[in-house]
Amino acid sequence: MKRTLVTGGAGFLGSHLCDRLIERGDDVLCVDNFYTGNKRNVAHLMAHSHFELMRHDVSFPLYVEVDRIYNLACPASPVHYQFDPVQTTKTSVHGAINMLGLAKRVKARILQASTSEVYGDPEVHPQPEGYWGRVNPIGIRSCYDEGKRCAETLFFDYHRQHRLEIKVMRIFNTYGPRMHPNDGRVVSNFIVQALKGQDITIYGDGQQTRSFCYVSDLIDGMLRLMESPADFTGPVNIGNPGEFTMLELAENVLRLTGSRSKLIHQPLPSDDPKQRQPDIQLAKSALDWTPKVCLEDGLRETITYFEKTHQL
Ligand code: NAD
Ligand code: UDP
Ligand code: UDP
Repeated sequence: MKRTLVTGGAGFLGSHLCDRLIERGDDVLCVDNFYTGNKRNVAHLMAHSHFELMRHDVSFPLYVEVDRIYNLACPASPVHYQFDPVQTTKTSVHGAINMLGLAKRVKARILQASTSEVYGDPEVHPQPEGYWGRVNPIGIRSCYDEGKRCAETLFFDYHRQHRLEIKVMRIFNTYGPRMHPNDGRVVSNFIVQALKGQDITIYGDGQQTRSFCYVSDLIDGMLRLMESPADFTGPVNIGNPGEFTMLELAENVLRLTGSRSKLIHQPLPSDDPKQRQPDIQLAKSALDWTPKVCLEDGLRETITYFEKTHQL
């Protein structure tokens, strides 16, 4: 049986990953400081004899014995990662050093949840892994973007210097059940606003684009990457190439919820990328992975979750 550590395991993506690992029979240690995650996300796993939950901040050392490490700990929504930007950088950088040090000591394979934000506001579209990005190093998003870029550097230096088995996954915007209702990300914002009959907040003119991946597809890609041959390090993009403007997303949410909410425009936050779409050729060829869930089906599932769970 594999002993698997999931950092950030009580968050949105981490809790879905824990579900899949438990399902397939791993012994799972979920580590989280509950900064943006919640015990509720893993409450259904607590009685399982192969599941353990530990409160811990990954910017401090952690001594445990495991075979696999999925390093997901880090607030992911701009509102949360900008609330305490110094802690965000510490989580990415000190967290990566500690988890890599742990992986080195116990000879575990380690996967980093990196992000499409490493491409910044891109001039290359769609973004292939070979593109080095266009990131502002001193802006309000930099704590997240540069923290994640530095974590990638650390992963590759531990790989080159200490022969660690690493996997670097660049995650594009992902959505689904268990997103935090107030975390400020666009899919959860629009759904919550539509269900409550509040105005839908479009930042800027709404012509900026994102490509949205449903959580089950994302976790499938993550598991495939972790089990890929030892010499495959990535970085590899995992995301759904279906690209939508924020206005199109709002129209879809209004149609699927039957809401009569109005669209209102608010200022565009600084450094907000204008476009984003993954080039997924590498994931297709190296991992035999493609996303299966279209935006409409994924939004339906997510809307049902918010209706049931949050009494909106
Ligand atoms: P999330 O905020 O729901 O989950 C992050 C989890 O990490 C939370 O449970 C939080 O409490 C925990 N955490 C934060 N700082 C910590 C620390 N110092 N020590 C221990 N735990 C800590 O976000 P998510 O969407 O599930 O994102 C998970 C990972 O995937 C993050 O690393 C994020 O950067 C990455 N990612 C997500 C997306 C996306 O669209 N969801 C896109 C790109 C990258
Ligand atoms: N570390 C950890 N758990 C371990 C082993 C190491 O948290 O099981 C931390 C340790 O605190 C150190 C970091 O990981 O600061 C990097 O470890 P490494 O062995 O690479 O470097 P060193 O200890 O030489 O600084
Ligand atoms: N956005 C929006 N209204 C909202 C929240 C976000 O128009 O209520 C926009 C935001 O400006 C960005 C896009 O939606 O252009 C995606 O934002 P999110 O925070 O979800 O992800 P990220 O910017 O990190 O890709």
